[in-house]
Amino acid sequence: MKDKIIPLLQELIRNRCVNNGRPDSGNETVSAKSIQAFFKSYGIESEILEAVTGRGSLLVRIPGTNPEAPSLMYMGHLDVVPANCEEWNCDPFCGDNRGGYIWGRGAIDMLNITATAAVAFAELVSRHHHFPGDFIYLAVADEEASGRLGARWLVENYWDKVKADYVITEGGGFFVDIGRNSGIAITVGEKGLAAARLLIKGKPGHGSLPYMSDNAAIKIAHAVCRINRSAPHIRLSGLYKKIVKNLNLGKWQKMNLSIPFLLPNALKNLYKQNHGLARQLHAISRMTISPNIINAGTKINIIPDSAALELDIRILPNQTVEDVINIVSRCLGKMKDDFTIEITDFFPSNVSAPTTQDSPLFKATRELIGSVYPGKKCIPMLFSGVTDGRFWRMHGATVYGFALFDEELTITEYTDKLHGVNERVSIKSLELSYNYFYRLPETFFRCAAE
Ligand SMILES: [Zn+2]
Repeated sequence: MKDKIIPLLQELIRNRCVNNGRPDSGNETVSAKSIQAFFKSYGIESEILEAVTGRGSLLVRIPGTNPEAPSLMYMGHLDVVPANCEEWNCDPFCGDNRGGYIWGRGAIDMLNITATAAVAFAELVSRHHHFPGDFIYLAVADEEASGRLGARWLVENYWDKVKADYVITEGGGFFVDIGRNSGIAITVGEKGLAAARLLIKGKPGHGSLPYMSDNAAIKIAHAVCRINRSAPHIRLSGLYKKIVKNLNLGKWQKMNLSIPFLLPNALKNLYKQNHGLARQLHAISRMTISPNIINAGTKINIIPDSAALELDIRILPNQTVEDVINIVSRCLGKMKDDFTIEITDFFPSNVSAPTTQDSPLFKATRELIGSVYPGKKCIPMLFSGVTDGRFWRMHGATVYGFALFDEELTITEYTDKLHGVNERVSIKSLELSYNYFYRLPETFFRCAAE
C-alpha cells in the first residue's frame, strides 16, 4: 500500500498548511482538496466545511446498516506548526523519501495518521461499502490553535454530521519504555489547560535613579522564581498508579514512583534512564505551571510601572478554575495580594469512561496490537497535552489516541519529534499504522456485537 500512502503524505507535507495561530494562516482547504481528490479516485464523495474561507475540514460519513450499532470515526488534522528552516537538515516541507523515512513538518504530528487513515478508509469503503455502524473520516483544520476554526467549530455547529460514539485520533501508540516487556500507550484521556495572566503595578520613574524604586519588572521576576520553587502538590490518581504498575521497571522503582514523597527522587533517577517517560510521569502526577511569557517596560530609561506574566497551566481530572486560582495564589505566597490573576482560557481535563478497558475499541486495539507485537502490554495513558479528541469526549464519546508504529518510536522519540526539528516518520511505521486502520473496523464491530 506504500504507493498510495507515500504520495498522499508527501502532498500533505508539501501543501505547507502552517498554522501560526492567526485566522489567515493554515490554509487547510488545500490539503482538504488533496484528500477529496484522493477519495474521488475511489469513487467516494466527501464534503469540505469551512469556518472561514481557506480553513477547510473534510468529512466523509458512510451510514451503517444497523441503527443499534455504534459509530466509529478516524480523525486527523491537516495543519502543522511552523518550522525554522535553518535548524533542519532538509527543507521542512520537502516530504523527501530518504533512508526509509518520509521527512517534513507534520510527518509525526499528525499527517502520518491523517494520510494512513485516509488510505485505509478508502480501501475499506470501496471493498466493504458498509459496516454495521456509521464509519466516518474527518480531517480538520486548526488543531494547532485550539480548534476554533476546525474541530471545536464543527462540534458546535455540525454535531449531527460529525457525531461519533468511538473516535481514534493522535496522541498515543508510542512505546512507553524499553525492553522485551515494554508497553504501548493507548491514550484514553488528556490533561486540561488553563491560561492565566498575572498583572502587577509598580511606580514609574527615571531609569537613572533605581534606588528604592517600585519596579514592576523586578516584582514579576520574583513571581517567576516563586512559581518555579513552589511546585503544585503531587496528586496520584488511579490512572497514574495503573500506568506505573504496567511499566517495565523494577518493583522498587515502581514503588518509589507511586509514593508522593519519594516521587521527586524517583523521577530524577528515571530521567537518566528514559527522559521522555520521566517528563510524562511528572506531568500526569500534578498540575504543572510553566511561566512562558513575560512583559514589562516600554522604554530603556523608564522604570516600568506595570508588568504581566502569562502562565501555561495544565490541570488534572476534576481540577477547576478555582483550584487554578488557589494554587497560583499559594505559589505567590505573601506577594499574592499585589497581583491581579486573570484566567484567559480554560478547558477541563477529560478521560474516556472508567470502564474504558472493556470498551470494544480498547479490546479491538489490544487484539490488533497483540497480532503484531505479541506479549506487549497496552498501557492506558493520560496525555499531557490537548488534542481535538477532547471536544468529542465532552459529548460522551470514547476517544483514544492511537496508531501502530515501529519500535523506534519510543515516548522519548515521540515527544522530542513533536513540533521539533527534522521531523520524520519511518515507512515501516506508515505500513503498521495503515494495517491498524485497515483491520480496525472489522475487529471493532465484532467486539461491539459481543
Ligand atoms: Zn497534532
